[in-house]
Amino acid sequence: MIDVTELRSRVTGPVLTAGDPGFAEEVAGYNLAITHSPDVAIGVTSASDVLEAVLYARELALPVRVQSTGHGASAPITDGVLVTTKRLTGVTVDPDAREAVVAAGARWGDVIAAAAPFGLAPVGGASPAVGVVGYLVGGGLGPLSRSHGFSSDHVRGFTVVTGRGDLVDASEIDNEELFWALRGGKDGLGIVTEVRLALVELPALYGGSLLFENEHVEAVLRGWLDYTASAPDDVTTSIALLRFPPIDAVPEPMRGKNFAALRFAYPGPAGKGERLAAPLRALAPVFVDSIGALAPKDIGLIHNDPDAPTPAWSDGTLLSHADPDLADTLLATVGPGARIPFVAAEVRHLGAATRIDVPEGSAVGGRSGAYAFTLIGVPEPSLFAKIIPEAAQQIFETLRPWINDETTVNFSSPGVAGTPAWSGEMMDRLAAVRRTHDPDRVFPRG
Ligand SMILES: Cc1cc2nc3c(=O)[nH]c(=O)nc-3n(C[C@H](O)[C@H](O)[C@H](O)COP(=O)(O)OP(=O)(O)OC[C@H]3O[C@@H](n4cnc5c(N)ncnc54)[C@H](O)[C@@H]3O)c2cc1C
Repeated sequence: MIDVTELRSRVTGPVLTAGDPGFAEEVAGYNLAITHSPDVAIGVTSASDVLEAVLYARELALPVRVQSTGHGASAPITDGVLVTTKRLTGVTVDPDAREAVVAAGARWGDVIAAAAPFGLAPVGGASPAVGVVGYLVGGGLGPLSRSHGFSSDHVRGFTVVTGRGDLVDASEIDNEELFWALRGGKDGLGIVTEVRLALVELPALYGGSLLFENEHVEAVLRGWLDYTASAPDDVTTSIALLRFPPIDAVPEPMRGKNFAALRFAYPGPAGKGERLAAPLRALAPVFVDSIGALAPKDIGLIHNDPDAPTPAWSDGTLLSHADPDLADTLLATVGPGARIPFVAAEVRHLGAATRIDVPEGSAVGGRSGAYAFTLIGVPEPSLFAKIIPEAAQQIFETLRPWINDETTVNFSSPGVAGTPAWSGEMMDRLAAVRRTHDPDRVFPRG
């Protein structure tokens, strides 16, 4: 048992070890299938607390990890220090600079709400419940990815506690190499205490989703893949093949049925958006049509991801291209007739702005990908160790001819597809940044 008495006097947030009241709540996150049991959890309330947590871990040669919302958790943490940032939710907006300063534990919903009164919006993820920093250090592909690129392309700077125990800025003018790495390089680079994020004007947004019933899934999937071959650069779409389990928690009209959900986002006026979405509406009779003019604060409605904690398993990779054989293969492996332990198989259309790196370069992997393919397991933890990963492995194998040589890290955990998230050259460069800023390997490499 580690003695935390002295540590408690160094930080203002709670310092908890197993057995302390509140420990389980402190380490809990979005994924209810995972229970963390670090030696000590530190609920930081300031950058100074983060610094003290890292210095303390260095003194005791303990590994340090960080959790915000727990949306990224795919394995339990069983040792060391867990820094929890959920109390650091502050967001301040400078409308003249079109910038938000976002604290480590804020979620996309916090930034959307803070920016909206100024007519501004972040280029964020599909789900407002996901943590901003954890998402950004992995790059980040959201509903506006084709028009606005990876979300990390909009980062102006980070404040970060490094493995050396230094609190530093990383931007185009300070610690440039660390800045390069933090935009997409994910783990082992430090604990970000706040991020400065460029906001965009979004005077109009036309988006939402179309739900199609089982008998139309094939026509919709084939038609959508054709649509993506010539979709305008400012239109971002995706398809989710959904299989609702026959349980009471699912609303009656959907219980036990399969659907295709087609998501559409166009950052422009409704008239033009309607014309751009017309070919998708014409693919088959629409069961539920929720596409329309959207307030930017409602961007989360496009994907409608669940925000309540749940047992969760998902994994994905990027695809390099589509052709008619891809539609056949997807229908055979994840289509309505497939008997598979997944509630959803999602394909997102990438390209356009996602292919263009920031002028000074960043560590985002997978810019060459044309589509993102993700499998979401049934929320039954007893299937997470073997049944679901093995079924996913088989599906990824079948899709091998289309799998891109590089994926993006936010979609590639736990990594069943085996696609590397960076090129060899980028991995060497990331390793060099980690050696510089964390020579004693305080932060385990993910
Ligand atoms: C429902 C759902 C929807 C999603 N939608 C998208 C999407 O649209 N696009 C997309 O790109 N990804 C998406 N993701 C993936 C998500 O971006 C990653 O899982 C991300 O890591 C979650 O960050 P978090 O802080 O919420 O989670 P956490 O589990 O708290 O953190 C995950 C990791 O982020 C890093 N991290 C967190 N905080 C810090 C910090 N302060 N300093 C340094 N590193 C930190 C650490 O490596 C940590 O292990 C989604 C995930 C889920 C479960």
